[in-house]
Amino acid sequence: MYFNKNEKQHLIVIGGNVSGLAAASQARRNAPDIDITVLESGQHISYGTCGLPYFISGIVDDINKLFVYSPQFFEEKRKIKILTGHKVTAINLHEKKLTVNINNSAENIFFDYDKLIICSGARPVNLKIDGLEDSCNVFHFRNVADTLSLKNYINKNKPLKAAIIGGGSIGLLIAEALMKIGIKTVVIEKSKRIFKDFEQEISNALFRKVVEKGCNVLTNSFVSSVKKNDSNIVTELMVENTEMPSSEKLDTDVIVLTAGIAANTSFIEGTSIELGCNQGIKTSSRLQTNYSNIFAAGDCCCVKNIVTGKPDYIPTANNAGRMGRIAGGNATGGDEIFNGSVGTKVDVVFDHEVAKTGISFNEALNLGFNPVKITDTYPAHAVAIPGVSDIEIVLIADYPSGKILGAQMIGKKGVAKRIDIFATALTCGMTINDVYNLDLGYSPTTSTVWDPVNKICGKAMLNFEKRKF
Ligand SMILES: Cc1cc2nc3c(=O)[nH]c(=O)nc-3n(C[C@H](O)[C@H](O)[C@H](O)COP(=O)(O)OP(=O)(O)OC[C@H]3O[C@@H](n4cnc5c(N)ncnc54)[C@H](O)[C@@H]3O)c2cc1C
Repeated sequence: MYFNKNEKQHLIVIGGNVSGLAAASQARRNAPDIDITVLESGQHISYGTCGLPYFISGIVDDINKLFVYSPQFFEEKRKIKILTGHKVTAINLHEKKLTVNINNSAENIFFDYDKLIICSGARPVNLKIDGLEDSCNVFHFRNVADTLSLKNYINKNKPLKAAIIGGGSIGLLIAEALMKIGIKTVVIEKSKRIFKDFEQEISNALFRKVVEKGCNVLTNSFVSSVKKNDSNIVTELMVENTEMPSSEKLDTDVIVLTAGIAANTSFIEGTSIELGCNQGIKTSSRLQTNYSNIFAAGDCCCVKNIVTGKPDYIPTANNAGRMGRIAGGNATGGDEIFNGSVGTKVDVVFDHEVAKTGISFNEALNLGFNPVKITDTYPAHAVAIPGVSDIEIVLIADYPSGKILGAQMIGKKGVAKRIDIFATALTCGMTINDVYNLDLGYSPTTSTVWDPVNKICGKAMLNFEKRKF
């Protein structure tokens, strides 16, 4: 059942950010005359989530600079109705009806849909620490509202010490932002490494750089309990070390929770819409759910991992934008395929670019590949040119096929775009031979004659030849 372009039917999109607005916009291009409504639980739409840490540090001085399009733009230029403060709390699949709560009030209203696109993003995981999450100085960091709450709290209370729970990319981005504004910061990470989805060579290199910059990092550590004052402010964390084992009390003025996310699909749990990894919605390659009139896109979904061919959870802005556009098109009669994701990720933290694409050594091993890890460090450009810095690279390739399975890098400059070469190679199923022979651009200020990307593949070829692993 597809929309007839001129039929007056109702498409509802749940979620008003990257994937939701891409979906609604593409649907409008495809079907000029249908009704399209975007229901957004928060008060803001179309914001650059990835830029929010830079508002905390002051690099972005006005939060309005992070908004891309206004609700008026969508209403007037695209004839898309935008309803903020509208949180979908339940879906009646049989009656094609949504229950929607208005602005956290007692008021619920109902919306009928013919087609639905779910773009509800991700939510923070609950740490299940008694009394932590309802405290006045404890913050999540997912959206504009969270960012404004944290910024306002900092401006009003001038905290001197912060604790970040979770040492992944968002945790480190916020740690850096808080340190930039003079707050002494500790990162508490349960695993033995920060950036735990990276190979240990890269995450150890990052650890050294973060500590050099003065940030305290406690690995193998978790918060077991908190102490609060009469104003509902957490003043002390009890931190347990799982390696020693031992515990210590940590004074703090503000806490940010960045210990992981899951797909934001609690409002569809209990329906027969199928969920997969990390509570993500399962879709076909057309981004259709197991209901033919319901599509889904972005962080609320599982995606196909191009390297493994298996479902995975890869919540990135690029995936969300691409998926949204395809879901919007397909919900209105299109027939596009989402090819999946190779899991490309870049972060710039503590003055270093850290990036990865593809799968890790252990993932490759578990999936039955015969992975070999090749590591090296190269100058990012000609050493004669002042300001040269190193790039550390880890390449994971299958032996003896030479198929590239993953690549990771860290360096001050030149990492972010080089990872895209490997992302392209992975998407095309290229080997170390293919990438060694790529004709990559050279200028002394940007690269070396043999680019680090060529070089690491050349080293891999030599190692394969000599069976030196
Ligand atoms: C601090 C931070 C930095 C990041 N940096 C990067 C980066 O550098 N690069 C990168 O690729 N990715 C980054 N990401 C991830 C990126 O922001 C997400 O992958 C992207 O925003 C996903 O888009 P989405 O549309 O799927 O979800 P979202 O952008 O989260 O949008 C979902 C929307 O749905 C709304 N919603 C949820 N539930 C309901 C409901 N029941 N009813 C109505 N509305 C609902 C939410 O309020 C939200 O506005 C970052 C994320 C964060 C938090």
